[in-house]
Amino acid sequence: PPDLSDALDLVRDVADFPKPGVTFKDISPLLAEPTALGRVVEALAAAGRGPDGAAAVDTVVGMESRGFIFGAPVALALGVGFVPVRKPGKLPGETRSVSYDLEYGSETLEILVDALAPGERVLLVDDVLATGGTARATADLVEQAGASVHALAVLLELSFLPGRATLGDVPLTALRTV
Ligand code: IMP
Repeated sequence: PPDLSDALDLVRDVADFPKPGVTFKDISPLLAEPTALGRVVEALAAAGRGPDGAAAVDTVVGMESRGFIFGAPVALALGVGFVPVRKPGKLPGETRSVSYDLEYGSETLEILVDALAPGERVLLVDDVLATGGTARATADLVEQAGASVHALAVLLELSFLPGRATLGDVPLTALRTV
């Protein structure tokens, strides 16, 4: 696989954001560099390709909101469509929803009921895998639609959090593990 160090080194640590004690991974400097952005998009898309290089998935699903930034170009690179998973109340029409626990409180994610067809193979795309709650809930939405999760592709996996365990049997491609 290509060396993505220069591209991924553009992700910046921001101390005490969004609250004290949290170090936030800020992708903004990477997004601002088209060469780095293109290389990262192609590396994420590789998680949705078969051995022959052709798309092995039918759809890319991205989670609000940084999953949209990477997911849509990954879908274009694979030649497949893109489906957004969103916070409550954003999608027009009938939705399916899943709630999951956060450290304090809970979060809900939604998908349009007709967004995925049964049997579709789906690549999930997001920027950061932390506790895995977002990805697991998204995988549940995909599976409830009768579709299957091919893999989750993220730029960064935070290995001090239980993301990989939370994913269960969903294969993970992380461009970098920190
Ligand atoms: P999880 O549900 O705890 O795995 O958190 C993952 C979600 O939170 C993803 O949608 C990320 O975009 C976001 N997230 C968590 N930590 C960070 C971070 O340090 N930088 C950017 N996004 C983050």
